[in-house]
Amino acid sequence: MNPAAATPPIETEALIIGAGPAALFLAFQLGLQEIACQLVDVLPAPGGQCHALYPDKPIYDLPGLPVCSGRELTERLLQQLRPFNPPLHLGQLVSGLQRRPDGRWHLRSIDSGDSGQEWIAPLVFIAAGVGAFLPRKESVAGLERFERGPAPQVCYHGLPAAYTAEAMAKRHIIVHGGDAAAVELALELAPPLGADAPGRITLLHRSPRFQIEPALQAALEQALAMGRLQLVLGQPVGFDTVANDPAALQALQLATPGDGHATLPCDWLLPRLGLSPKLGPLADWGLALERKHLPVDSATMATAEPGLFAVGDINHYPGKRKLIVCAFHEATLAAFAAAALLRPGQRQLLQYTTTSPRLQQLLGVAGASAAAG
Ligand SMILES: Cc1cc2nc3c(=O)[nH]c(=O)nc-3n(C[C@H](O)[C@H](O)[C@H](O)COP(=O)(O)OP(=O)(O)OC[C@H]3O[C@@H](n4cnc5c(N)ncnc54)[C@H](O)[C@@H]3O)c2cc1C
Repeated sequence: MNPAAATPPIETEALIIGAGPAALFLAFQLGLQEIACQLVDVLPAPGGQCHALYPDKPIYDLPGLPVCSGRELTERLLQQLRPFNPPLHLGQLVSGLQRRPDGRWHLRSIDSGDSGQEWIAPLVFIAAGVGAFLPRKESVAGLERFERGPAPQVCYHGLPAAYTAEAMAKRHIIVHGGDAAAVELALELAPPLGADAPGRITLLHRSPRFQIEPALQAALEQALAMGRLQLVLGQPVGFDTVANDPAALQALQLATPGDGHATLPCDWLLPRLGLSPKLGPLADWGLALERKHLPVDSATMATAEPGLFAVGDINHYPGKRKLIVCAFHEATLAAFAAAALLRPGQRQLLQYTTTSPRLQQLLGVAGASAAAG
């Protein structure tokens, strides 16, 4: 067992690496094939690129959905998947994939707290898109030491349990970044007007211009005008620790515009510098990659490794297009192929959700179509 893993390996029929649109629709299709699956994504929320990179931008080329935002698509896919309710492991980077002597796959993941999970599955689906989305890190050497431990002071994703509203009111919190995620977080943390808050919320950005929608810009300006948060222009270049405690962050050293320098008190630093995809561990699993993509059989999405499939942006076959609609098609073919592999000799029927009592039973809608007439 992985010494870092907190719990024993989970056995499942299928493990999906990724929780982007390809993975979510694949999980639905596996559900229709009565294959139990689990999903793992390094991001704190499902939806892949749609949710992480363009949640509010419109998508116009989904069949039957003339316009739909990245966020809405994710919500709809999750809603469609609900009857099967597959476990979704978020904040977990799948770091290892190995074939076991019994032919099944052994996978392990790590999370930000240096623990992780292991799985054993006969079927693995790589739906890793353009790679694992990892937060862009601060470029200050040594700052990473404050990311760990029971009370981390630097946090790239979400907020640790120690960040209670009461504790936050007393802290100097710096949100570093210039996009919507940074501004939204700063506004969310800013105390209400007139609240007794001995700490301070600072939005730190290298320039006074933000990459945000006008409504968010207006909300930011209002919060700044009311003194609910402060804006500081600068770039972190160093840090100070508490006297006699090198493990406790106390302040950030900043390079400020015009070759200036400033010291900013800092109990908690929340960098929101965007995400960058990293093929990362996948490149180390000894799989045959073609220009960072996994070649597959376009009839089944099977890779050269038995029991290992690839769907969505990560795969490659003649005519491949990196589009969501293509990922949905691939997910459907992969689920059929996986069912044939898992249950050799069993006749595969093509059933319609419209008319199949079995599929409707799986979907929890048995009787609904008769009632609809
Ligand atoms: C700005 C923008 C606009 C777009 N507009 C459109 C459009 O209008 N129409 C269209 O069809 N397509 C559009 N696309 C493309 C579309 O978003 C992608 O084709 C689609 O997201 C691919 O889905 P996927 O599930 O294969 O991969 P992704 O969405 O990339 O999801 C992959 C997931 O796998 C996770 N992951 C990877 N490796 C690991 C690992 N080792 N461990 C754990 N997790 C891992 C990643 O964190 C990620 O969440 C657009 C893309 C962008 C960037």
